[in-house]
Amino acid sequence: MSKKFYQLTRLGRIAQLAAHKVLSPIDTAFFANHTGLTQERAGQLVENQLTTFALPEGIARNLLVNGHLHQVPMVTEEPSVIAAASNGARLAIQGGGFMVTQPRRLLTGQIVLTEVADVAALSAKITKLKTTLLQVADAAHPSLKRRGGGAKWLNVRELSAHDLSVDLTVDVQQAMGANMLNTMLEAVGAYLQQELAVTVLMSILSNYAPDSIVTATVEIPFSALKTTDFAGNVVAAKIAAASRIAQLDPYRAVTHNKGIMNGVSAAVLAFGNDSRAIESGAHAYAVKDGQYRGLSQWQVVADGLSGELTLPLPIGFVGGATKLLPAVLPNQRLADVHSAEELMQVICALGLAQNLAALKALVTTGIQQGHMALQAKSLAVNAGARPEEVPALVNALQQATTLDLVTAQQLLVQLRK
Ligand code: NDP
Repeated sequence: MSKKFYQLTRLGRIAQLAAHKVLSPIDTAFFANHTGLTQERAGQLVENQLTTFALPEGIARNLLVNGHLHQVPMVTEEPSVIAAASNGARLAIQGGGFMVTQPRRLLTGQIVLTEVADVAALSAKITKLKTTLLQVADAAHPSLKRRGGGAKWLNVRELSAHDLSVDLTVDVQQAMGANMLNTMLEAVGAYLQQELAVTVLMSILSNYAPDSIVTATVEIPFSALKTTDFAGNVVAAKIAAASRIAQLDPYRAVTHNKGIMNGVSAAVLAFGNDSRAIESGAHAYAVKDGQYRGLSQWQVVADGLSGELTLPLPIGFVGGATKLLPAVLPNQRLADVHSAEELMQVICALGLAQNLAALKALVTTGIQQGHMALQAKSLAVNAGARPEEVPALVNALQQATTLDLVTAQQLLVQLRK
């Protein structure tokens, strides 16, 4: 029988992706030979650069999004994340895959005004200037408007009796938009200072991005969920119960969402985006009604389990570090994504796949069974196994009653005998 994708060697996997035309010859050579960032490029990215810091990249296999299959690159140091994402994707395929909405992509930033004597009066004055302020914003980064984007609307919010936030919302097209928006905000801030003698405390985008949201849904038939110990409808009911608990209890909700972000952040990194921006925005969205809750919800429907995840994903397909990190363009081609909108859809579906696999494991076998099988690999390496010794040691560890470093070291000594 032919080997499964995960059983192949690294080069075997790359060869299979090439044989299936997922990778072009150029990208095949790239993935086979890539050794990471050059020191020179790293020095162009950050300050006081000393060296580079490598992380593993793998792929979540066969994520079916709106009828289109994607092989999704993921960058993470955590064992079992990529396996779980692939597992979630496999389950989803049995229900026809993920359906994902057409995303909204608008970014908002704020010019914070302080020491305001009369907030209502100033607010009215600024509102009157709205059209001019939108023009000032567009003039600060005119290429955005030429591309069909640019400043869309401006609102004034009273933060206190003496503080105002002037919120500018911009269509950032294919970029994440932080730098472009900050330029526009500073221009509007300077204009307000000059025209209305206001005190500008700061001008900066907000990483809270409720206008850059996307929703993924999926329906998994009971038949896909059954395990050796539980019928599919029982697993579905348990997943729905786990989802309910994540709506009720912030202790559980944070971990529920961390599981979603295992997939989201790994993909965000693989596509050269700012993972802190996405993380902070997602967690803020999780508390949008005043209580921190699970970002996804699952419920039992007629003959299966239905899941939904809505996420703010203000990510960029161009700009930022996307051109400077050499793996990003090959990763975009590997995933077969061609726009920021499509990338948002794929990442949102990946988050839901990740969540599904984690919840299924949690409510059936428990998380440790699968996790520790993969953890055995890092234990083997930590115990000092040479690459050719790792498979045998992992095997021995999986038979052992205790999975810890001492056991790994003892088993390694025995193996070497
Ligand atoms: P850039 O400053 O790189 O701006 C986007 C670039 O993409 C522009 O040069 C633009 O060209 C170019 N571009 C080409 N094609 C398009 C297109 N179709 N649509 C839009 N732009 C296009 O990046 P961003 O403004 O996206 O900012 C992202 C960076 O900002 C990230 O590195 C992020 O980490 C960082 N950042 C994040 C902050 C936060 O999250 N709080 C704060 C500050 C920075 P042109 O100039 O011709 O328009």
